[in-house]
Amino acid sequence: MAREVKNEKGFKVIEVSLIECVQWGGLGICDNCNNSAFKGYYVAVLNQVFCEDCYKKWCERAIYYPEDSRIEEHNFERYKKILNID
Ligand SMILES: [Zn+2]
Repeated sequence: MAREVKNEKGFKVIEVSLIECVQWGGLGICDNCNNSAFKGYYVAVLNQVFCEDCYKKWCERAIYYPEDSRIEEHNFERYKKILNID
């Protein structure tokens, strides 16, 4: 079941299963390493889904830019609707 996950740097992230990813028309693969993402992380500011490994690595190097928050919010709200997250 898709859910919002807490991100320590303040990014908006949704955890999704492979099945949910396929249901919304995705391929269920990581946008970074192209492996199957059985548990994926949708990163709204990038509009990409990462596998658990790539998500962790991305978290370590990612820098939050406030000027990206508008597009992040837009993407986030869209996927919340698609995934039925309150
Ligand atoms: Zn990956």
